[in-house]
Amino acid sequence: TALALTGCSGERGGDTGGGTDEEVTGFEAGSTIGVALPDKTSENWVLAGQLFTDGLEEAGYKADVQYAPASNTVAEQQNQIQTMVTNGAKVIIIGAKDGKQLATQVQAAKDAGAYVIAYDRLIENTDALDYYVAFDNFKVGNLQGQALLDGLAERAGHEAPYNIELFSGSPDDANSAVFFDGAMEVLQPAIDDGTLNVVSGQTEIAQTATEGWLAENAQNRMDTLLTGSYGGDVVLDGVLSPNDTLARAILTAAQQAGKGVPVVTGQDSEVESVKSIMEGIQYSTINKDTALLVEQAIKMVGQLQKGEEAEVNDTESYDNGSKVVPSYLLDPVIVTKENAAEAYANVPTLLEIVESYK
Ligand code: BGC
Repeated sequence: TALALTGCSGERGGDTGGGTDEEVTGFEAGSTIGVALPDKTSENWVLAGQLFTDGLEEAGYKADVQYAPASNTVAEQQNQIQTMVTNGAKVIIIGAKDGKQLATQVQAAKDAGAYVIAYDRLIENTDALDYYVAFDNFKVGNLQGQALLDGLAERAGHEAPYNIELFSGSPDDANSAVFFDGAMEVLQPAIDDGTLNVVSGQTEIAQTATEGWLAENAQNRMDTLLTGSYGGDVVLDGVLSPNDTLARAILTAAQQAGKGVPVVTGQDSEVESVKSIMEGIQYSTINKDTALLVEQAIKMVGQLQKGEEAEVNDTESYDNGSKVVPSYLLDPVIVTKENAAEAYANVPTLLEIVESYK
């Protein structure tokens, strides 16, 4: 069993006072903690880097925070993690670029005695992964699906059926399928009973994917859908968008095609999207407060440092193909124009934007 040693300064199993054979699994306060983040596909990743650097240093660790560059991203992230292992990081927190391609590096970390925490995105097919910390991704999808239905009822200006299209995120991100499945749990019954009509017929996740979470890919697909399925006066009532960056690209495509402003969902509470929501354009987003997620990850580091197990609140949802990964899931919040002030009550920068529209 692990011995809880606050601020233990010895080596593993070192000077614990009295030659017991108890295993000491904590590590030295002031150790290096590695943070490997993907490329900056949305504001939350940019913010996370800053918050990790500041938060880890405040907690007394040395922070080694790296972003994978936009090109050669997978290989570069693999190298960054391997270097953190070699340099003796005690915990490595990873926001994966491609969650299926890090098993070797996670195993190397474990072999070196480091803990690995998957941050926001699950790492798949390795039992060397210790923990997962994220917002509840399935619930994010549920909320997006429900927001699309609510928005259509509120804004479409006519009774059902409503014409919609579906978008999902990048196939290399494990979250993409979870968001989509969560949304479809809500939307599929409405598709089946004829309330919703996916005019293109594209309802399989592979058909809806947005490679690399890139805005230009979503905009191109929306252009193609509009040309192919919305000729003449066929109306586009709504679009399921998995995040804000893509939501804005989808809205741009619709506006450029003269199709007005469909009801479009989002995620991340990016500044431009919060403004768009307050202007009555984008319908919804999700508040996943990055500060809370980073804080939770750093809390887990603190528990591991003392030789404790990290606290989790979910031990069944995230099977990564090799094990069910003990997870700490935070609660996402839906945001529309109507509840924005309340939803951002604890996020000063966004609250300020919301209040500037009053
Ligand atoms: C995150 C989303 C983000 C997306 C693109 C996902 O893994 O959970 O918040 O919008 O990546 O960066």
